[in-house]
Amino acid sequence: MGNADTLYIVVPCYKEQEVLPETSRRLKEKLKSLIEKGKIGAGSRILFVNDGSKDETWPIISRLHEREPDVFSGVNLSRNRGHQNALLAGLSTAVTRADIVISMDADLQDDINAVDAMIDAYHNGFDVVYGVRSKRESDTFFKRFTAEGFYKIMQALGVDIVFNHADYRLMSRRALEALMEFGEVNLFLRGIVPQVGFPSTTVTYERAERFAGESKYPLKKMIAFAADGITSFSVKPIRLVLFAGIFIFLCSLIMFIYAVITKFAGRSTSGWSSLMASIWMLGGIQLLALGIVGEYIGKIYNETKRRPRFIIESVLDSNGEKNG
Ligand code: UDP
Ligand code: MG
Repeated sequence: MGNADTLYIVVPCYKEQEVLPETSRRLKEKLKSLIEKGKIGAGSRILFVNDGSKDETWPIISRLHEREPDVFSGVNLSRNRGHQNALLAGLSTAVTRADIVISMDADLQDDINAVDAMIDAYHNGFDVVYGVRSKRESDTFFKRFTAEGFYKIMQALGVDIVFNHADYRLMSRRALEALMEFGEVNLFLRGIVPQVGFPSTTVTYERAERFAGESKYPLKKMIAFAADGITSFSVKPIRLVLFAGIFIFLCSLIMFIYAVITKFAGRSTSGWSSLMASIWMLGGIQLLALGIVGEYIGKIYNETKRRPRFIIESVLDSNGEKNG
C-alpha cells in the first residue's frame, strides 16, 4: 500500500441536476487536497453514475468530464435500475482502475470530511471502512423511525448488518474484487459487504440534510428496499410461518375434541361461531404463508434467470483499465 494509491469516489445519481454542480465542486476540492497531502495518487477520480435519469444529470456529468478528464469520470446506465444497481455498476467500473473505492450519495448527506479518516484507516490496514451516522437529527421523525426500525429488524432476523451504516463506505481493491464474486440479482450491498470479510472498521459522521433537490427514496422504494433486504438474507420469516402452522394445528386438535364433546352433549348448533372463526383464521394464515413462500419462489425465479444486473452504455474515464 503505497501513497500513490488511486482513489475512485463512486457517486450514483438519479435526477440530481440540482445538486451535481455543488457536489462536483466540493468533491473536487476534497480530491485535490487529498492528492496534495500525498494520501492518494494523481490518478484518482470522482466517478458519477447516471442511473438512467432523463434530466440534465448526464449532460452535466459529460461536461465535467470534458472539462476536467483528470478529475471527473462518468458511467451512464441505459435506464433507471435503482440505487443499489447503479452503485454496483460504478463499483464494477472502478474495481479495474482503482486501489481504493469510496461510495457515497450525490446529495452530500454523507459528510465528505470523513473521507480523510477512511483513507487513514485504509492505510492502517483496513480493507473495509464503514461510514456510520452518529445522529439523525436532520432526518424527519418518520425517516428516522422507519430507518432505525429497519436496522433493528434486520439484526433481530440474524442479518449481519452494521447499525446506521448506509452505503457510505471505503473498500480496498481486493475487498471489491471479492464482492464482485457475489452474483445475486436481488442485491443488498449493506448485507453483502460484511459477508466479504477482510479487516474492517467504522468511522462516524453526522448526517447532514440534503442541500438541494428532494429524496429519490419515496416510501414505496423504501418498503421495496427493506423487503428485499430481509428476504434476500433471512429465512426466518418462513420459519415463523412454519411455527405458526404447528401452533394452529395443535389448537385445531383441541378444537376438534371440543367439537366432538359438544356434539355428543347435544349442543352442536352452538359450535357455529367457533367454526366460522377457525375458517377465517386458517384462511388468513394460509394466505399469509402462501404470500411469504411466493416471495422466496420469486427470488429463486429471478436468480435462475441470471440476467445482467445493469448494462453500461458508455464509460468516460481518461485512465483506462489497470491490469493486476
Ligand atoms: N439514487 C439512484 N437511483 C435511484 C434512486 C436514488 O441512483 O433510483 C441515488 C440518488 O441519486 C442518491 C442516492 O441514491 O445519490 C441516495 O438517494 P436519496 O438521497 O434520494 O435517498 P435518501 O438520502 O433520502 O435516503
Ligand atoms: Mg439522500
